[in-house]
Amino acid sequence: MDIGFIGLGNMGQPMARRLIEAGHSLVVYDTRNDAVAPLVALGAQLAGSPADVADRAETVMASLPTPAIVTAVATGQGGVSQGKRVKRFIDLSTTGPGVAAANAAALAAKDIVQIDCPVSGGVAGAVKGTLAVMVSGPRADIDLVQDALAVFGKVFVIGGKPGMAQTMKIANNFLSATAMAATSEAVVMGVKAGLDPAIMIEVINSGSGRNTASTDKFAQRILTRTFDAGFTTALMLKDVRLCLQEATALGVPTGVMAAVAQSWETANAEIGGEADFTTVVQPVERRAGVTVGGEKT
Ligand code: NAD
Repeated sequence: MDIGFIGLGNMGQPMARRLIEAGHSLVVYDTRNDAVAPLVALGAQLAGSPADVADRAETVMASLPTPAIVTAVATGQGGVSQGKRVKRFIDLSTTGPGVAAANAAALAAKDIVQIDCPVSGGVAGAVKGTLAVMVSGPRADIDLVQDALAVFGKVFVIGGKPGMAQTMKIANNFLSATAMAATSEAVVMGVKAGLDPAIMIEVINSGSGRNTASTDKFAQRILTRTFDAGFTTALMLKDVRLCLQEATALGVPTGVMAAVAQSWETANAEIGGEADFTTVVQPVERRAGVTVGGEKT
């Protein structure tokens, strides 16, 4: 099918590539020329704005960094809502349920259906097509695009109400953020006490402490000191803040969320928002005066 794709960053790039490889015709747009070039080389058409994308495709997908950017691209001046051909907007970004509902309402006023479609599984999952694809929106439109979405991974229809898939996504990412923050403190504690971090990770992965940070990020990206998961600290902090905000609004206890959010606020302030999110271990290392993995000193 003809698909518009806006936002060809760490996630959008491999997802758009998979759509082309599956035989779909893509019209692409990103504010960065270097982001669109590899897709154009694979046969995608280049558009000049989000509205231009929406002039050329009935289905427009977006994978954008922040809720404010998604709202501007979807509903602002020169945005998707001003396109002539677009019938549905599939938001692959993590925006939170409130922004998703507001954008869905603004698009509905222009007869455009929004399908919320946040994803989980990282850049590696986007490359391999093994993402968890969380979908909410009108069933008839979901049915029309389900095959295209299945190119990204396993599709889960969460519900019909705008924002439901976003609630699912921020719950998931809160757990991923917690695994990173908690494993950082546990492993740094062990290293300071004289334990070998590689052995710690092996034991944790054979025991009940096993989690997404211990099975993947610590072994592949922290012990190696490569810090290259492809997801920034700023984006993880955004997700944890969205989760904390939603839980607070719903009157759900947030003791753990608040503590985890603090770890990400610290990493964002000290290491920087553009750093890979695996660097969340570094403020813990600094305070403890030890380093996990890498060269032995
Ligand atoms: P990214 O920053 O790598 O990519 C975003 C892309 O959007 C960039 O290429 C940027 O140039 C482009 N962009 C920014 N403003 C734009 C605009 N106004 N118009 C058009 N393009 C614009 O971010 P990412 O890591 O690919 O994440 C994208 C979304 O997916 C985020 O909402 C993130 O939370 C979510 N997500 C990321 C991961 C991950 O592991 N990286 C995993 C799951 C979900």
